[in-house]
Amino acid sequence: MEITIIHKQDNIVHFLVERIDVAFANALRRTMLTRLPSMAIDEVLVLENTSVMYDEMLAHRLGLIPLVTDLESYNLPEECDCEGKGCSLCQCTLTLEETAGDDEDRIVNASNLTSQDPKIVPASGDIPLVKLAPGQRLIIEAYARLGRGMENAKFQSVSTVSYKYVPIVEVNKEKCNQCGDCVDMCSKNILRIEDDTISTQNTLDCSLCEACVDVCEPGAITIDTKKDSFLFKVESTGALTPEEIVEKSSEILKERIRLALDYANSL
Ligand code: SF4
Ligand code: SF4
Ligand SMILES: [Zn+2]
Repeated sequence: MEITIIHKQDNIVHFLVERIDVAFANALRRTMLTRLPSMAIDEVLVLENTSVMYDEMLAHRLGLIPLVTDLESYNLPEECDCEGKGCSLCQCTLTLEETAGDDEDRIVNASNLTSQDPKIVPASGDIPLVKLAPGQRLIIEAYARLGRGMENAKFQSVSTVSYKYVPIVEVNKEKCNQCGDCVDMCSKNILRIEDDTISTQNTLDCSLCEACVDVCEPGAITIDTKKDSFLFKVESTGALTPEEIVEKSSEILKERIRLALDYANSL
């Protein structure tokens, strides 16, 4: 397996994985979604809540805030020496105490949470939690821990992960009559006409729609795919960097394959 980063912008990365089959590509996608741990609030102690929002709804909203995750410093609760009881190696406490003024509303955001660990903070401080009316008050203590997406979607560190086959766009110059219909039809600007010759560009962007093939009367265009290469698009929630998501997921998948092979060999 060979991974090449094609494009990275903020929390989104496009990368090419070569020398794998479709089953492995799907296993990698599912590993990112379900097996990769990230931090989320899992327990909330509501000390005071005079807002209109029920405690349960507030706890639900807190749980869905993506938290920047430090995988090196925290253990999964089930792998921690405390056996899941909660200690500084598997749990991080966040507190919030906000009161609206006597004559003004106040919007409480994720940025109002104070974390005991400066590395475990909301990925975005702008996420609104609740609107307090004048005089209303909110005091909570929340406990974040590592978990996996297979347990609850709030632990997913990816908001999107998809892959597609690598396109191969070929024009047979002997059959082509330079009518230019395919150029007009391609919404991705893959085909262009220059000096009465059709050429291709940025073929990785091809959506494989085959609209160009449909309008090409002489049958000069063929659209095919590489069978052992896949283009992935991964968007992080902000809990982990896209690079961390790709690297850690590959490690987890390799380890799972190794365990499966050991088991098969032991039979
Ligand atoms: S539609 Fe077919 S024939 Fe016309 S320019 Fe494109 S490849 Fe050539
Ligand atoms: S298959 Fe679709 S996206 Fe790809 S070159 Fe043809 S028209 Fe463009
Ligand atoms: Zn612990």
